[in-house]
Amino acid sequence: MVQIKLPQNPGDTGWKEILPKRKVNPKLSDNINSDYLIIGGGFAGLSAARRLNQINKDAKIALLEACEIGEGPAGRNSGFMIDLPHNLASDDYLGRLEKDREQTLINRSAIEFAKDASQEYEMPSEAIQLVGKTNAAASEKGMKFNTEYAKHLDKTSESYKMLDAEEMKDLTGIDYYINGLWTPGTAMLQPALYIQSLADGVTKNSNLSIYEKSPVISLEEEGRHDGQKVWKAKTNLGSISSPKIILAVNGIVERFGYFQNRLMTIFTYSSLTRELTSDESNMLGGSNEWGLTSADAMGSSVRRISGMGGNRILVRNRWSYNPSMEASDSFMNSVANSHNESFKARFPMLKKVSMEYSWGGRLCLSLNNVFAQGEVDEGIYSACCQNGLGTAKGTAIGIVTAEKITGTINSLVPDFVDEEAPKKLMPKPFMWLGVNGYMRWKELMSGKEK
Ligand SMILES: Cc1cc2nc3c(=O)[nH]c(=O)nc-3n(C[C@H](O)[C@H](O)[C@H](O)COP(=O)(O)OP(=O)(O)OC[C@H]3O[C@@H](n4cnc5c(N)ncnc54)[C@H](O)[C@@H]3O)c2cc1C
Repeated sequence: MVQIKLPQNPGDTGWKEILPKRKVNPKLSDNINSDYLIIGGGFAGLSAARRLNQINKDAKIALLEACEIGEGPAGRNSGFMIDLPHNLASDDYLGRLEKDREQTLINRSAIEFAKDASQEYEMPSEAIQLVGKTNAAASEKGMKFNTEYAKHLDKTSESYKMLDAEEMKDLTGIDYYINGLWTPGTAMLQPALYIQSLADGVTKNSNLSIYEKSPVISLEEEGRHDGQKVWKAKTNLGSISSPKIILAVNGIVERFGYFQNRLMTIFTYSSLTRELTSDESNMLGGSNEWGLTSADAMGSSVRRISGMGGNRILVRNRWSYNPSMEASDSFMNSVANSHNESFKARFPMLKKVSMEYSWGGRLCLSLNNVFAQGEVDEGIYSACCQNGLGTAKGTAIGIVTAEKITGTINSLVPDFVDEEAPKKLMPKPFMWLGVNGYMRWKELMSGKEK
């Protein structure tokens, strides 16, 4: 029997902390049966839940989430649900033209699904807004990445707008950036609000139950029933027996015994300022809401938000490869300093503004930039490894997996084609040295973009 050890989420995610308190679903405390069991309540798990429920209203569906909904990586990200290619392993996010076209169609199906969910569940508007995003450049090198990106967009007939330094200042209030590439198709999320609203919406008037703070500590074969293998997922206080399981746990799928030595758990980190006063907001100027990814994949994402948590600024940067799936406190401290430096460099007029929250979170990459998905054991399907763009790709793989497990032919992600399996990694010490060394070097080279 595999015993599953769960990693910690470093720091409190500001996205969740600035929201009003939500009613948390109870822990699993009984031994029950379900037609389908989903493990993991992030983008993949909750999208799978919504799709399963659409396909079969009568099926009894259970979802087990290790922490509170919104506390895991799904509530820790920067909220860019990007329609265009966003390959983190490439300097400028791009890959092969054909692959990028396919990926764009898949991401757009996911955004459509999320928009439909937001309307059906009457989510607050800031949970998801289709407002686009800007790839910002602070240096000549960053500007070159944007120019290359624009050429690529021309080849795929995608629309965009180039912004000069003045337009960047009009948008952000700061004169740090010399160029921007705005694309219209990104949905901007308040990630904790979106994911919590999705969880609350999907359980309303349905046969679907979510159990929070209920980590699965083992998954074992229980026997056979009606010709199907039945699995038993145990938590500390209860268990769920089911013939059909969706593993939507991203890199933690390795701890369930699947895709071992094929997935990389990478951390990235964010900080969110305290609320700006109205004087500070006025001093800053620009729009009240904007989202910048960096033209250099190793640079900082920066957002200004002004929703129910007040007017604040978010900075995300730094990467670390942690095969142990844990980020150390000392690294968290150095990252918080780095966020402060990036903030001060960009916002000299906000000298008195400090960070209120700093946190980190896991994402999962494979060497060949593919999902870890499909039937991995009789009745067990994986919907994992989103390669950094988990808001869109997690949503897509959740939908696809729900369709696969039910044998549904009409797909909401019509362009999805099964990819090859994730490639094997080299031994962990080599990987650790190689990946961390490479990322650190790229971070240093990113210069003013950081
Ligand atoms: C700081 C930061 C910024 C990011 N920015 C972006 C961004 O702007 N855009 C973007 O697309 N992506 C971004 N990401 C990545 C994105 O958050 C992830 O790719 C995404 O959350 C993956 O979705 P998922 O549903 O596959 O996995 P997760 O969100 O990790 O959800 C898996 C869930 O499974 C649960 N789980 C694990 N093991 C068990 C178990 N044994 N029992 C029960 N539950 C279990 C976990 O608690 C977790 O909640 C960012 C990540 C971080 C950390």
